[in-house]
Amino acid sequence: MQNSLLRQLYVDELKDRYSAETQMLRALPKLAKTSSNPDLRKAFEEHLRQTSEQVSRLEQIFEMLGEKPTGKKCLGMEGLVKEGAEAMRSDYEDAVMDAALIGAAQRVEHYEIAGYGTVRAFAEQLGEDEHVSLLEQTLEEEKQTNDQLTQLAQQVNSRAGQSAVENQSRQVSKAGKTTSRRVA
Ligand code: FE
Ligand code: FE
Repeated sequence: MQNSLLRQLYVDELKDRYSAETQMLRALPKLAKTSSNPDLRKAFEEHLRQTSEQVSRLEQIFEMLGEKPTGKKCLGMEGLVKEGAEAMRSDYEDAVMDAALIGAAQRVEHYEIAGYGTVRAFAEQLGEDEHVSLLEQTLEEEKQTNDQLTQLAQQVNSRAGQSAVENQSRQVSKAGKTTSRRVA
């Protein structure tokens, strides 16, 4: 493929990344607010801060390219954000909700890792070394966030599992009371 043809695809993909990041700027505060686990809330707040830096890295690249970042909607991210919103509307216990939020957020991070891997490879092919290093920083942040969420999932999932056990024993003891009352 000629580099001039690849450049058009590169710009389109960057616009997609830009749309994805700006959608996450709106979604991350909601994820943080819905989290019960303070470490999870902190992780979402920290990633919100990183996400604004990621947006400005993309803006720097667009400026170097003499292009505008707007004009494209990332439909993949729109779907992932809708899934996250659906989870947040569910009637889950606190710890179970935290587990659902981690699941939704990790799908976002994996999607971003794939997207940034693609644009970084295009930037390399196009010899845009400054872009490569900016995109590389963002890619690393997305990977670190994903790893951090995997770590947090260990404590969150075990609490979510325990809350399910507590619920069951509560239901069993309720059933027990009914039986004993009936016997009396
Ligand atoms: Fe991001
Ligand atoms: Fe991210």
